[in-house]
Amino acid sequence: MGILEGKVAVITGAGGGIGREHALAFAREGAKVVVNDLGGARDGSGEDISAAEKVVAEIRAGGGQAVASHHSVAIAAGAEGIVKTAIEAFGRVDVLVNNAGILRDKTFLKMDESMWDSVIAVHLKGTFLTSQAVARQLVAQGEGGRIVNTTSVSGMLGNFGQANYAAAKAGIYGLTRTMSIELQKQRITVNALAPIAKTRMTEDLPLFQGTETLTAAHIAPAALFLASDLCGDKTGYVLAVAGARMYAFKVVETSGRFKESDDGVWTAQEIAGAWDGIVK
Ligand code: NAD
Repeated sequence: MGILEGKVAVITGAGGGIGREHALAFAREGAKVVVNDLGGARDGSGEDISAAEKVVAEIRAGGGQAVASHHSVAIAAGAEGIVKTAIEAFGRVDVLVNNAGILRDKTFLKMDESMWDSVIAVHLKGTFLTSQAVARQLVAQGEGGRIVNTTSVSGMLGNFGQANYAAAKAGIYGLTRTMSIELQKQRITVNALAPIAKTRMTEDLPLFQGTETLTAAHIAPAALFLASDLCGDKTGYVLAVAGARMYAFKVVETSGRFKESDDGVWTAQEIAGAWDGIVK
């Protein structure tokens, strides 16, 4: 029996790349899958309903169950439409994987407002909208659930030329942490993946030239784990995968220093003098 037997999983951006691998792996493990994808270009322009349809056809050809959704995650009506598709096709939702994404890279000084808005809308607002729509359904069902978000090394550490994308992905980290705290009572776990894989989003980066060891298929088992009962009550984590390497991102707080005086108020000069002890 598959580890997602009987579960209904919504996977956004599942028409290609990492999302497609998630969808195929989830279906192989017995999940009924809502394959959501708007089918646009890497920068978010255009639409093509065949992207989701092809993955649905692949799953059905392998004996699995799947239905397509062409809604955009970036608008509330799209997020609600995705949940409605799941309910109409399969009667419930158990798992959401927020994976949809676009790229509009530019150095910070040259980035314009539309590059900022479109990337924040798909990644950060999209993750908020679909998570809220699915979480409300999970709470109504009363049996808990799983939400798996997708952040990035860009969001966790920063990256040249990706101010919009890094801000969105760092926002997804904060959203994941807060959702994990707020939804714990309802037995909904919320974790995030930080993948590194060769897809259309990354294939022109030097890291991926001449290598076939960093594939989207390496990422899917981590999503499967976080979506399954194997994950138990683990929540609020960022699980990172790059080929054979499985690791985690953590935000750390230093122990810092206390100002030894009655009022405890530091001067700027004292901060300069104690810098290493404060930040290490
Ligand atoms: P990809 O471009 O192959 O996949 C993204 C998918 O999202 C596409 O199929 C696209 O059509 C879909 N999409 C875009 N906007 C949408 C919208 N508004 N509604 C619904 N679907 C939409 O890229 P990928 O590398 O597979 O990326 C998947 C996720 O992993 C993204 O969130 C990306 O930021 C993240 N990620 C990827 C890497 C990597 O190394 N590939 C690294 C870090 C994070």
